[in-house]
Amino acid sequence: MTKVLIADDDATDRTILRSALTHLGYEVEETCDGDQAWGVLERPGAPELAILDWLMPGLTGPEICRGLRARGDAPYVYVIMLTGLDGLADLVEGMEAGADDYITKPFKARELHARLRAGRRILNLQRDLLAVQKTLEARATHDGLTGLLNHVAIMERLNGELDRAKREGVPVGVILLDLDHFKQVNDRYGHIAGDCVLESIAQRIQGAVRSYDAVGRYGGEEFLVVVPGCDFDLTLQIANRIRREASATPIVIGTDRLTVTISAGAAWLAPGASSEAGLLVERADRALYRAKNLGRNRIEWHSGGGDAVAPSGEFDLGGA
Ligand code: GH3
Ligand code: MG
Ligand code: MG
Repeated sequence: MTKVLIADDDATDRTILRSALTHLGYEVEETCDGDQAWGVLERPGAPELAILDWLMPGLTGPEICRGLRARGDAPYVYVIMLTGLDGLADLVEGMEAGADDYITKPFKARELHARLRAGRRILNLQRDLLAVQKTLEARATHDGLTGLLNHVAIMERLNGELDRAKREGVPVGVILLDLDHFKQVNDRYGHIAGDCVLESIAQRIQGAVRSYDAVGRYGGEEFLVVVPGCDFDLTLQIANRIRREASATPIVIGTDRLTVTISAGAAWLAPGASSEAGLLVERADRALYRAKNLGRNRIEWHSGGGDAVAPSGEFDLGGA
């Protein structure tokens, strides 16, 4: 049932409106002053349709309208102003304050019904538009196959994290991952099976990181993971966890069970240092290239993180 807010300090007007609206099948919420009305409209699940009197104690109708229109991305409230017959100037001011429509008192129930229906049409259109906008945004930032962030979005995220790291003096790790001998998977099982493998590996990578890490599909069978706040050791630990979990269990393709391994290159930005996103990824890429040359299914790294000191311990991140 559609909810309508009535804000009017005149008890008789409220009674007439309530009975008309209830008769038309609306759920009614009533207030007798502007401050209360604002409180109702600020609540989660507030009515999307409001009938506001011009002058009432507390905020006036136009003040509420201006307040509603100034709220950034809060749900749209369709506002109908109530005016007297001689209130043309009021009407213009109300509409300019952001009201969508008006009703002059005394009003006819049929007119009220028609105006509310027009309001609902607008609200429905707006809802559809927002849904489309959300879908388009998701498509523009996410990869269609894996559902991960796409190349542009993961680089934007890395840039954002680098800015934040600089401000807050925290480290950032990046891990570039590439499937080993993936071309052979396509050659042997076909491109569609190859896509399934990519989807599975993407899920495993996402499952191996923390909720505030970001995973993106960097290119065809390459993934970029951004691990904010991670020092050098932790970045390598996460990289190694991803590597292990990617190949922990075989991926089923038809009657075959296929174990896919990945190689990774890691790079790191030390606290207080600064770097371009592109440069950091390039370092990770060079490390990845080494991981491939050294036999695959392993992690290599670039240890210089700007002001970084070399890692303290020895890492044996390949093989087992
Ligand atoms: P390496 O261990 O050196 O990385 O060997 P590789 O075979 O994985 O590397 P190469 O770069 O030669 O091949 C990558 C393959 O990934 C070739 C390309 O067809 C495949 N590929 C890239 N994107 C997709 C995709 O979206 N779907 C499928 N099925 N295959 C893809
Ligand atoms: Mg590869
Ligand atoms: Mg590749």
